[in-house]
Amino acid sequence: MSFRNFPMVPRVIYGKGSSQQVEEIVEPIRQNGYPIIYFADHFFKDKSLVQHIPVQKNDKIIFIDTTEEPKTSDVDQIRDQLIEEFGKVSGIIGYGGGSVMDMTKAVSLMMNNEGSSANYQGWDLIQNEGVYHAGIPTLSGTGAEVSRTCVLTGPEKKLGLNSDFTPFNQVILDPNLTQGAPKEQVFFTGMDCYIHSIESLNGTFLNAFSRSYGEKALELCKKIFLEKSEWDEESDEDLMMASWHGGMSIAYSQVGVAHALSYGLSYVLGIKHGVGNCIAFDQIAEFYPEGVKDFKKMVDKFEVEIPKNICQNLSDEQMNKMVAVALSLTPLWENALGKNWHQQITEKKIKELYEKM
Ligand code: NAD
Ligand code: ZN
Repeated sequence: MSFRNFPMVPRVIYGKGSSQQVEEIVEPIRQNGYPIIYFADHFFKDKSLVQHIPVQKNDKIIFIDTTEEPKTSDVDQIRDQLIEEFGKVSGIIGYGGGSVMDMTKAVSLMMNNEGSSANYQGWDLIQNEGVYHAGIPTLSGTGAEVSRTCVLTGPEKKLGLNSDFTPFNQVILDPNLTQGAPKEQVFFTGMDCYIHSIESLNGTFLNAFSRSYGEKALELCKKIFLEKSEWDEESDEDLMMASWHGGMSIAYSQVGVAHALSYGLSYVLGIKHGVGNCIAFDQIAEFYPEGVKDFKKMVDKFEVEIPKNICQNLSDEQMNKMVAVALSLTPLWENALGKNWHQQITEKKIKELYEKM
């Protein structure tokens, strides 16, 4: 088929306070007494959010440690633990940023697919539908709430489980839940969305579908991060919708140069996605001149430090691995630069870019 036929999130609720409706939403999905499992970012362990999780009967809350981004081994371990304890579960509901949303999607899939999640990193390798899964973002920007992937670091690569079964069955967008997140974190995750829109809008895969979403995401990001004098409640609402649109925009196109380089930084140095994107984007004005110019203004306005000189003391082995990871992401380069991207992007060129970071 030459045109992609991709699934979307079938149900979404939007509004301040809407996450209070979780109980009503999850009740009908209970099956044969099997529990509903709630994943919550470990940040919320002693926070009021936990008191609002409608745990009943044998339901369980699992706090997800997001000090590092999700790994295939973490997904496998939680899946094995759930199967051992309950046999089956009725569904998994995840409260958190991109890391917890991806964990929720991944464990849901792995409940019904045998072996290690590492075997399914790639495109359309998942064989069976997962268990019911719902996402409740507490940070906005990654677009993980709408995407067809969940990104995992495995023994050999950092790559998502991309499949038609991956998108959430239900998403609850409650801007109250992102309020009060630390300014730096909001900036780095928000820049993920800004960069999604720039890479999508400047890519060769662009079509009217992607453009319409990308333009809206970009407009909202500029409003929040450039034009407004200060952060307010409306900014939380706008960034939540920007994230949704940014995710929708790349669904039918792709990300580009910053993401390819950021994946290398993340795989070798463990740098988080949002931070890695910013480190990379800061150095690639030759590819996205307008986008990088505005980005630098946003960094100044929000007084955020972008880490520098992180590639100064790398061993040859580390640098080579980083270059190899970035270079392997063919669709990203092709979107950014067209079918002949190899003419511009060589190992030497990528190394030069990393050396500036
Ligand atoms: P995150 O989920 O990794 O969280 C970052 C930090 O913020 C954590 O320390 C967490 O405890 C904290 N946090 C979360 N919500 C908070 C709140 N409301 N208040 C205070 N602290 C809070 O950050 P992220 O940037 O949202 O997600 C990054 C992850 O998303 C990466 O693993 C990346 O690979 C993934 N990602 C996935 C997709 C996708 O389409 N599936 C797209 C982009 C990125
Ligand atoms: Zn991203």
